[in-house]
Amino acid sequence: ETASAPNFIRNQIRDEIQAGRSDKIVTRFPPEPNGFLHVGHAKSICLNFGLAEQFGGDCHLRFDDTNPAKEEQAYIDAIKEDVSWLGFEWAGEVRYASDYFDQLYAWAQHLIREGKAYVDDLSPDEIREYRGTLTEPGRPSPWRERSVEENLDLLERMRAGEFNEGGKVLRAKIDMASPNINLRDPILYRIRHAHHHQTGDKWKIYPSYDFAHGQSDAIEGVTHSICTLEFEDHRPLYEWFLDNLPVPAKPRQIEFARLNMNYTLTSKRKLKLLVDEGIVDGWDDPRMPTISGMRRRGYTPASVRKFCEMIGVTRADGGLVDIAMLYHAIRSDLEDNAPRAMCVLNPLKVVLTNVAEGHEEVYEVPGHPAREGMGLRRVPFTRELYIDREDFMEEPPKKFFRLAPGQEVRLRNSYVIRCDEVVKDDSGEVAELRCSVDFDTLGKNPEGRKVKGVIHWVSATHAVPMEVRLYDNLFLVEQPDKDKDADFLEHLNPESLKVCQAMGEPSLADAAPESRFQFERVGYFCADRHACRDGKLVFNRTVGLKDSWAK
Ligand code: ATP
Ligand code: MG
Ligand code: MG
Repeated sequence: ETASAPNFIRNQIRDEIQAGRSDKIVTRFPPEPNGFLHVGHAKSICLNFGLAEQFGGDCHLRFDDTNPAKEEQAYIDAIKEDVSWLGFEWAGEVRYASDYFDQLYAWAQHLIREGKAYVDDLSPDEIREYRGTLTEPGRPSPWRERSVEENLDLLERMRAGEFNEGGKVLRAKIDMASPNINLRDPILYRIRHAHHHQTGDKWKIYPSYDFAHGQSDAIEGVTHSICTLEFEDHRPLYEWFLDNLPVPAKPRQIEFARLNMNYTLTSKRKLKLLVDEGIVDGWDDPRMPTISGMRRRGYTPASVRKFCEMIGVTRADGGLVDIAMLYHAIRSDLEDNAPRAMCVLNPLKVVLTNVAEGHEEVYEVPGHPAREGMGLRRVPFTRELYIDREDFMEEPPKKFFRLAPGQEVRLRNSYVIRCDEVVKDDSGEVAELRCSVDFDTLGKNPEGRKVKGVIHWVSATHAVPMEVRLYDNLFLVEQPDKDKDADFLEHLNPESLKVCQAMGEPSLADAAPESRFQFERVGYFCADRHACRDGKLVFNRTVGLKDSWAK
């Protein structure tokens, strides 16, 4: 078993509870429905839902839907499915920041009445310029001293749709000279004449992330508002709102380091580009680091959760997690839990010349070598078989313990055979091998000689044809988006998908969508959840057999 890594937030909450400073904890997972969730989100899901689970609290699923132009119902549906698939349950109904738009608007009016917010007519570019830089303080907007009445009136008319997008914003009046730029009169509302997936055409103004987030937490009674480190500089603003509004609760923001993983992008925007450009077959392409992509690839919920335990939770930013850890998590799960089967990826016909036509034997073979509960599978043996082309070499190097002219090999679960003749087609390619069986080798070693190699095979008479998709990393370099301005598409792996027309043993014929197998000597595979539902037999390679993760 792999130990879990430290999780400082879990330790902190445990201490709070032991000291009697925390009672029931409430967390939330707050995705913006502008794309599918990726493996980085899985870290946040496991953290937020995991803490609630562990400490008997609640975790809310809340859509942070303050930017309607980029959001869609389809993303909402996908996100709900991903969270459920990971095995988590949100407390109560799904929530939306947009549920609180009326309250947020009332709080904006409250700030205006207190002289703590104003409507600004500067353009977005001017606002940026007036805001100053890290080394230079900002300058006040000429509209900063508007009266309460004028501000209330203008906000109402912004809401009613009287002004164009970009024409006005509502800003908090905090401190244009603050060393923290987030406190230099941050924007509370923008004008957007956009249709919203939840609120329809009711609103012409939408709250900013900063104005919506902490207040939504407060409304929901969130105790620990956990987010990634980019928001550390926003914490003073998060607290300013809570201190200056009559909110019903005071949640606390805690930041942790986001997940970055080698050979992988963890940005919805960039993943969306791969989808929009047709580089992958949709958000759930098995090469995508999305939760739905990992699902289709063959990851189990348990393996993703285990991976998130393995990587731990810290405040140390900048590290790259090795994707080999993710592969290790799924491999060890499937090693224990996936039934075995034989499947030949690149079939080469073998005719056993001393087996009679029509002859058939059936071996009863364990579904799993260590788990009797998985029962037996029936593996037929006949005169004509398929083996993998890779298991034959006409002129083998010295230690090639597989099949070669005049050389012997054991067929897994069956006899030792010898290759007597190589039949070629017109182009000189090996078309067929003619071999003979040593019938005295079933379940025992041959007399007087050692046969080292064991290869997998299927009966040609009974084999089921199937498509097997071999996936590899989408990118050739560890950090495809390392250089901000460079095009990460330049680093795409041209061999991230290879398709084989394979032959599988008959036990695979009615594999259910999403059932997982170890193809012996080959790797772990999962029946494609879409293709197999349409009556085709398609298997996706989840991961190879060899573990390269150094513990
Ligand atoms: P992206 O940059 O990919 O669009 P995001 O942070 O904008 O991601 P949200 O939908 O806002 O996406 O994220 C929902 C939650 O998931 C947030 O709390 C966010 O901090 C967390 N999250 C997003 N990416 C990661 C990551 N790589 N590692 C850990 N948590 C993440
Ligand atoms: Mg976001
Ligand atoms: Mg983002």
